[in-house]
Amino acid sequence: MAFRKVVFLDRDGVINYDSPDYIKSWAEFVFLPNTLSALSILHQNKFQVIITTNQSAIGRKLIAKNTLNEIHHRLIQIVSAHGGKIHDIFFCPHHPDDVCSCRKPRIGLLEQAVHKYNIDLADTTMMGDSATDMECAQNAGCGRSVLVLTGKGTLACKQLDQLKLSPDYIARDLFAAVQWIVDQPLTAGSLGT
Ligand SMILES: [Mg+2]
Ligand SMILES: [Zn+2]
Repeated sequence: MAFRKVVFLDRDGVINYDSPDYIKSWAEFVFLPNTLSALSILHQNKFQVIITTNQSAIGRKLIAKNTLNEIHHRLIQIVSAHGGKIHDIFFCPHHPDDVCSCRKPRIGLLEQAVHKYNIDLADTTMMGDSATDMECAQNAGCGRSVLVLTGKGTLACKQLDQLKLSPDYIARDLFAAVQWIVDQPLTAGSLGT
């Protein structure tokens, strides 16, 4: 069964508060306001939520892969207890110097998801707080992209023109992004601008 109505969600600065020191433990993972309600609304509206996140803290040896997996396990449990559902999490563990194929704005993480779940990228929406998320959506051919103004969003907003990026919507936060997407028609092949 192919996944439909997929939302690729960035993690840091979208779901939880970002930190210049990276998120290295569950104690440092703090949900942004209204995130859990937003995820619940996505699930009620039959969107499949897949997190795609750069976690160079692993490549920088600041956090072990096991610890990251534990954080993600707890994240999935809490979202689930609040009526939401995260179907999967794909992360890039590499250091930027590795020049891997999965660190956003490169599209390796999205390709992994496409292969695993038989996703049509035209039916997807990418939501993130960084210009690199918007660039990744453009590189991959996501149906839509939404920039949220939490995290690095305000800075990203200023970079859009220079990078020739034009998200389909700019939202105050994830909750506002979800309200927008839920209001858009989502019949087969109708996504896109
Ligand atoms: Mg982010
Ligand atoms: Zn990578």
